[in-house]
Amino acid sequence: MPELRKDPIIGRWVIIATERAKRPDQFLGQQQEAPAEKACHFCEGHESETPPEIYAIRPKPSRPNTPGWELRVVPSIAPFLRIEGELDRRGKGLYDLMNGIGAHEIVVETNSHIDNIADLSEEQIAKVFACYIDRINDLEKDERFKYVLVFKNHGWVAGGGSVKHSRSQLIATPVNPKRVKEELAGSRFYYEYHERCVFCDLIKQELQSKERVILDIDGFIAVTPFAARFPFEIWILPKKHSCNFTSIDQASRSGLSSIIKRVLSKLKKGLNDPPYNYILHTAPFRREKVGYWKSIDYDYHWHIEIMPRLTRVAGFEWGTGFYICPLPPEDAAKFLREVET
Ligand SMILES: [Zn+2]
Ligand SMILES: [Zn+2]
Ligand SMILES: [Zn+2]
Repeated sequence: MPELRKDPIIGRWVIIATERAKRPDQFLGQQQEAPAEKACHFCEGHESETPPEIYAIRPKPSRPNTPGWELRVVPSIAPFLRIEGELDRRGKGLYDLMNGIGAHEIVVETNSHIDNIADLSEEQIAKVFACYIDRINDLEKDERFKYVLVFKNHGWVAGGGSVKHSRSQLIATPVNPKRVKEELAGSRFYYEYHERCVFCDLIKQELQSKERVILDIDGFIAVTPFAARFPFEIWILPKKHSCNFTSIDQASRSGLSSIIKRVLSKLKKGLNDPPYNYILHTAPFRREKVGYWKSIDYDYHWHIEIMPRLTRVAGFEWGTGFYICPLPPEDAAKFLREVET
């Protein structure tokens, strides 16, 4: 059973993975280069090679775990967290820990062997977003969970593994992640002072200056953040205020698909298919602490962050939390605006 352990000094939770546990000697000579591509178990016709599906889009009626699907969700073969069991929060002297309970699902975004989501049709990408919404809503029913992080690892350097088949992941956690809490606290603090959403203000200001705007289409904007951590870091924000990704309607889902496809195609074409991660930040499940979330509907604004992995986080960043971004975000935005797709 994996364990969630809390750092007693800064309160950060970590997952001590057991399903993926390695022997100490397996870390010797860790591979830096991508290994040869393995046979793909995500392609149509290989359904028996994954754990049984949790969810699938099947345009014509067909049996689960057989061909005929357009999109499929399966549990991870090597989950970071386990779905069965109780949390059993406990202390061990000054330490806090709990069982590593959670859900870890893989969204196989297409039945064809396509590597980059940018190469799927807008209609197919919209199905991926609709699937995220269905899965988050389903996981919310499980009282043990407080947050679901949706993310994508594209390319070996970004943690994408050795199988080049477009997919993303969902991890439901029994605690709110520290990064999310920092954003929530910052947004709330801004709201208390200004009575406005910091993200809405940011969108307004970016649209006026335009120097960091990459695209402004279909109700969404793609910008490089003012305080970018990484070269070509990109945020995608809905112009219409909402703290909840799961509440977006069909028109917004197609707007989002169109901007994601355009932005990721620009990255692929302009930077020769770089490795990247994207993450979806949305409001946590609001279950406890009556009154605690009273302003979240107004102060928080869901968004997607895209982080191309073109530089390495090194000593200074680890020691300080400062990031050194070797490219001004204004230059990155200009470059990406000019890439034709
Ligand atoms: Zn495949
Ligand atoms: Zn807002
Ligand atoms: Zn964020």
